[in-house]
Amino acid sequence: MRPEQADGPCVAVVVPAKLNLFLSVRGRRPDAFHELVTVLQTVSLYDRLRVGLIGPPGQGHHPAARRRMRVRLSHNGGPAVPSADANLAVRAARALGHATKVIDLAVVDERAVTLANPEVDAAATPVTVMNLDKGIPVAGGMAGGSADAAAALVSLNELWGCALSRDDLRRLAAVLGSDVPFCVVGGTALATGRGTALAQVLCRGTFHWVVCQAREPLETAAVYRAWDRHCRPSEVEPDAVLQALRGRDAEALGAALHNDLEEAAFSLRPELEDAKKALIDAGALGAVLSGSGPTLLALCESEQAAAAVGTRVRGRFAKTVVAHSPAGGPEFRPC
Ligand code: ATP
Repeated sequence: MRPEQADGPCVAVVVPAKLNLFLSVRGRRPDAFHELVTVLQTVSLYDRLRVGLIGPPGQGHHPAARRRMRVRLSHNGGPAVPSADANLAVRAARALGHATKVIDLAVVDERAVTLANPEVDAAATPVTVMNLDKGIPVAGGMAGGSADAAAALVSLNELWGCALSRDDLRRLAAVLGSDVPFCVVGGTALATGRGTALAQVLCRGTFHWVVCQAREPLETAAVYRAWDRHCRPSEVEPDAVLQALRGRDAEALGAALHNDLEEAAFSLRPELEDAKKALIDAGALGAVLSGSGPTLLALCESEQAAAAVGTRVRGRFAKTVVAHSPAGGPEFRPC
């Protein structure tokens, strides 16, 4: 289905969530970010973004008309997901507009039209409509917002005819957030720095997970503040994870899963540590906090084993979902 009212071209992109198979915090940087070494992989929970143009007949589809544009976002993510400027998909639209000069200064949302840019003639300005269908848990440490930013870059690059390469989009993505460059590319990657310096790594085979969503969200910034208070920089290396991925060895991967943010997250939410133990007791090969949490990931030897573990631990979580990794990257779908 097309985005509501879009009368011109329409582009749809599905984008997967990410998990961190390994995350080591090397320390706090002078710019207040943390220096990380992390192994990222996409997992089969998806958001779907459809973008389309509304405009006076013909006008919205003419490149000259796109130098002025309003952007309007709707989503089904509930009150925790912002609808205007604070939404990472809208920020990505602005960043792409500025970078490609397709849209001059008038990338505006509804509020900006009335408050900040009264001179913009709403009726004559084409609108890019964005419809976001959330399947990735919100504030779960699975990079849902970053995935949406990536989906916006990929879909609007097509809709607006910007003709940027995936590499160009990846570079642009770094200003939007640490996980966005990875979400533009997908697959499996080793990331360093604040998480934006990426190298794809070899992963053979498919891994099966129970994705366990906690009842209460956990704010990323609060987890890093707790890390600053309680934890010391670590020097753990990702070699065992990389080797397990190369060797399609689920058992070795289960043993090698590692996340330095667990200590900080567990200090804020002790029940997560108990839940991680329960996942191992229920038969998982290994379990780890996803990013800054609170989602926990349990690695299992097969899809059936993951379903069984999910059933055993269901009472502890808001939701358990069986998923596989890696899950590719952003992909176009029919509108
Ligand atoms: P982080 O990238 O900080 O680790 P996360 O992966 O834990 O985040 P997200 O689903 O990205 O979780 O949401 C974090 C916050 O980002 C939300 O609480 C929300 O306020 C904001 N946000 C902005 N854009 C989006 C979006 N498109 N989808 C979900 N949340 C968004």
